[in-house]
Amino acid sequence: MKKIKLLSFDLDDTLWLSKPVIQHAEQIFYAHLTDVAPALVNRFNPDSLRAHRLDFLSRHPALKHQISQWRIKSLTEALELSGYKEQSAVIALDAFEVFLKARQQITLLPHCKEVIAQLSEHYILISLTNGNADLSQHSISQYFTASYQAEQVNAAKPSPALFLKALAIVGCKPDEAIHIGDHIVDDISGAKALGLFAIQACLKPDSPAPHALADEHFYDWRDLPSKIQQLSLR
Ligand SMILES: [Mg+2]
Repeated sequence: MKKIKLLSFDLDDTLWLSKPVIQHAEQIFYAHLTDVAPALVNRFNPDSLRAHRLDFLSRHPALKHQISQWRIKSLTEALELSGYKEQSAVIALDAFEVFLKARQQITLLPHCKEVIAQLSEHYILISLTNGNADLSQHSISQYFTASYQAEQVNAAKPSPALFLKALAIVGCKPDEAIHIGDHIVDDISGAKALGLFAIQACLKPDSPAPHALADEHFYDWRDLPSKIQQLSLR
């Protein structure tokens, strides 16, 4: 019998729904800019500021996996375009801190916490996110041995770097690990390519249908332990 040792978890749209979190954080971010940088708000509405951020990335592709630096540097440029000069970097950094703080205001999906607590008694849990959610700011982090963000390894899932980091910490083989996440490419295909098991989280209203690559899938956190159990017995 195969023994599963490691459970790695995606965060956004797996432990909580990300859309309301990001929408709220974007609103707080723009409201802050309205207060501190009115000339920027005159030049960019929320949509055009977002379009500028995407355009900035197309001109600075090296920032692709550095989403915090991407937001700070693109805002610095938008501020300069709006007439702010040497203060632009400071205003951008402050505004980013406002965004980041709001971005941590997550609401765990129903039954997530109790199931995570239960799983932590049997497995090592590690979170792997492409986003900039900071699990250490939440009480649920007590159940996780480690948490990694793509910007720490400069490579986002589906690249192997984050998965390899988790396997290395536990010192286990890929087939002793299960990755749990919502994204078909980043989570399911990324984990499977390395030989981990993958369980697809189908938790948001517009979740894609269960994918053939996924070993299991779940619609409710209460169903996850039995899915893990089934894979352990394979
Ligand atoms: Mg996700």
